[in-house]
Amino acid sequence: MLIQLKAALEKLTLDQHGRARTVEMIMRELENDADVKAVLQKTGWPVEALKVYATDFLRYQQEAHHCANCPGLEKCPNAPQGHRSRPYVDDTRQLFFTYEPCSLYLNAQDMRRRVSLFQTLQIPTSLAGVRFRDIKRDEHNVTAIRHALKFVSEFDARGGIGLYVYGPFGVGKTYLMAAIAGHLVDRGRSVFFVHMPALFRELKAGLDSARYLEMIRALETVDLLILDDIGAEQLTPWARDEVLVPLLTTRTTYLRPILYTSNLPLEGLSEHFSETVRGDLDRLKAFRLIERIRSYTETIMLDGPNRRRKT
Ligand code: ADP
Ligand code: MG
Repeated sequence: MLIQLKAALEKLTLDQHGRARTVEMIMRELENDADVKAVLQKTGWPVEALKVYATDFLRYQQEAHHCANCPGLEKCPNAPQGHRSRPYVDDTRQLFFTYEPCSLYLNAQDMRRRVSLFQTLQIPTSLAGVRFRDIKRDEHNVTAIRHALKFVSEFDARGGIGLYVYGPFGVGKTYLMAAIAGHLVDRGRSVFFVHMPALFRELKAGLDSARYLEMIRALETVDLLILDDIGAEQLTPWARDEVLVPLLTTRTTYLRPILYTSNLPLEGLSEHFSETVRGDLDRLKAFRLIERIRSYTETIMLDGPNRRRKT
């Protein structure tokens, strides 16, 4: 341990040409450093007094040098990575060295936090970066954008009322939902953005497993749930009666909104949900589900050109 320390110190005290530097030389170099100046000013000490902290100041200088030639967070030579020590004088004129995170580190941390707030199921990862500023406006989507902006600005005061956005393929329904999601995640809300056909495939595959319960719990509890492309899923009475209905009941009870996108207007969705095998019973169940969706959403029609890049 001691030998290691000595070696580290020797390394630190060599200049870039491998020549030994005296503590005096290092202190002189540091004299004009802003942090060191602040220390001297606050303590009223002469620069020689800093020699007592020579190793700390050497480390400080070395880390500052690393930062000036930053190789990126992953290759950061400082320990801990993404941090550097800085001298700091407290009110009792005691000198401390604090470890401060750099902006790269903070950005990466922020990114990790966002990733944990933003869950997706079969949604293209690129959509996580979409914000309102990315949404191009035209005469077709101004109303929908206005509703979306109103939705985020009133988020807490809406009593759990969501949006039902329907329209043809490629007009930007999913894209608009991504902007809403991004806006809320930036403000610390949790969002689960779910592709409906994938959801039922997943739930069926993971039935009875811990993953199933985990998924249901996330669907029920996130601040905002987005069900993308409802009506495109392979519907079974089980999916409708054992998954969707209880999910909607729980979320509306706790005033947690759901955003839907669909190619179908609500009437069409009602037909889709009736298309199981049991006739009248299914029609009634579908009707109840649709009425529940209707009473907890504002309906928005989104039309316009197909914006999907033609390949
Ligand atoms: P929909 O969900 O209605 O089928 P998408 O939201 O998937 O359509 O839109 C398809 C693609 O078109 C998006 O991935 C995006 O690249 C682009 N797009 C859609 N709406 C807009 C918009 N308002 N501004 C810019 N690009 C858009
Ligand atoms: Mg879509």
